[in-house]
Amino acid sequence: RAARYSSTGTSQLNSVTEQDIEYFSKILPKTSIISTLAPISSPSDELNSFNSDWMGRFHGRSTTVLKPKTTRQVSEILKWCNERRIGVVPQGGNTGLVGGSVPVHDEVIISLSNMNNVRNYDPVSGVLVADAGCILQSLTDYVAPHNHIMPIDLGAKGSCHIGGNVATNAGGLRLLRYGSLHGSVLGLEVVLPDGSILDQLTTLRKDNTGYDLKQLFIGAEGTLGVITGVSILTPPQPQASNNVILSLPSFDNVLPLYQTVKRQLSEILSAFEFIDRTAYNLAVKHGQGRALPESETVGAECFILVETSGGRREHDSEKLLDLLESLLGADKPLINSGVLSQSPAEFSSLWALREGVTEAVSKEGKAYKYDISVPLASFKQVVDDTREHLRSKGLLHDKAVKYVLGYGHVGDGNLHLNIVADAYLPEITDALEPYIYEVVASHRGSISAEHGIGAMKTHALHYSKSDVSIELMKKIKAVFDPKGIMNPGKVLE
Ligand code: FAD
Repeated sequence: RAARYSSTGTSQLNSVTEQDIEYFSKILPKTSIISTLAPISSPSDELNSFNSDWMGRFHGRSTTVLKPKTTRQVSEILKWCNERRIGVVPQGGNTGLVGGSVPVHDEVIISLSNMNNVRNYDPVSGVLVADAGCILQSLTDYVAPHNHIMPIDLGAKGSCHIGGNVATNAGGLRLLRYGSLHGSVLGLEVVLPDGSILDQLTTLRKDNTGYDLKQLFIGAEGTLGVITGVSILTPPQPQASNNVILSLPSFDNVLPLYQTVKRQLSEILSAFEFIDRTAYNLAVKHGQGRALPESETVGAECFILVETSGGRREHDSEKLLDLLESLLGADKPLINSGVLSQSPAEFSSLWALREGVTEAVSKEGKAYKYDISVPLASFKQVVDDTREHLRSKGLLHDKAVKYVLGYGHVGDGNLHLNIVADAYLPEITDALEPYIYEVVASHRGSISAEHGIGAMKTHALHYSKSDVSIELMKKIKAVFDPKGIMNPGKVLE
């Protein structure tokens, strides 16, 4: 039996044994257990997709995946794992971008994919209560006939789970309008490492009765417990949505453009997203959305996607057209041109150019992803400086780094800095880290604006959190998970 030091530094963790599988077989049907250990013996390639992350960068060695269907089953599994000191990794859609959803060693994986029922929906209040394993897109489809939308939207919506979204406190494309999940999640049901069930699945909007414990699990990346149910406020569907892609001759125009757009569109502005020229070119190259007419992109250094969501189509269109007119008619125009969607298909296609960048980057090569918060004015500088830094190290060529690009949620001050290479190479990592973290710290920014810490950034947490904060985080972890079984090696070293 292998034993190791766990991430909390306080305990030893054990590997799953045949006796453990026998016990799990009493709780779950055999079809809900994938294991290479007797008496189950699944082929090991069935485990591969659970052991590898979306980027193909992190690989675990778990022998066992469990797919519970009920909260009670999760509770029994955790109680057993806690008593046996077996590490546990909760896994949703496995779309996380910081290696949090796959084991560091051979922890057991609890996949929430079989917990995928809507428990309750109230179309009057818009409160949705769902199992944590519901796919975000399926929840979007569920509330659509009731004229509501999910308060969160992101490129991975076809695979990611609402539980995974909550566990990572995912931001995404609607944060500018609907705020973070810390606001829209009303309640959670969480199974704690000792198997006890924390039932805070309230649908109340107001409840000031002491500490708001659910907030601790939002963004905890599975290190404190397994989220099994989510109660979330869904906003009414906007009556009219529109979007436009603006091409800018210079990045310097982004800030004044943002100010102008905010002022002119005010309450109907729902997204203000940035893609630099390289990101745009890659999205087009890999078929994400339809390329803009060439005449609209000549001389563009970057692009901004503006979305409006409002109550009356004519009113919103008028506002958007007025905006375009005033932008193009200015003495010194901030934009070269704007492509306005004219149909639902064009609306989706313009969005795909922005949403598809993540996918396009992954098709182009191996991506070093830095999801940082820095002042908006520094976005371009950070991308350019990183490119020059890699050039100065002799790493900017076909055999090493192919592209350095930036895109992201300007409205939220969140830049996705991506470095695309042919392969993950130690010399590239060494050139990027701690370089990028130091740049972020010099701006008092965040080393992880929305993707989390996972396994990728545990060593860099101190660039964004003080010693006092980290010590408190460790104490909180010890309260919930004294044996350190929950997602070891993630968030805290
Ligand atoms: P997983 O990847 O399975 O897990 C992520 C973390 O949460 C892990 O630490 C895991 O242990 C934990 N976890 C999962 N489920 C549970 C649970 N039920 N209980 C406890 N812990 C759990 N993120 C953004 O914030 N904004 C974006 O715009 C965005 N766009 C993306 C676009 C693409 C194409 C991709 C691939 C990813 C994107 N992401 C984005 C990353 C984002 O974190 C995830 O897509 C999503 O929130 C993770 O959900 P998941 O179900 O896949 O979780």
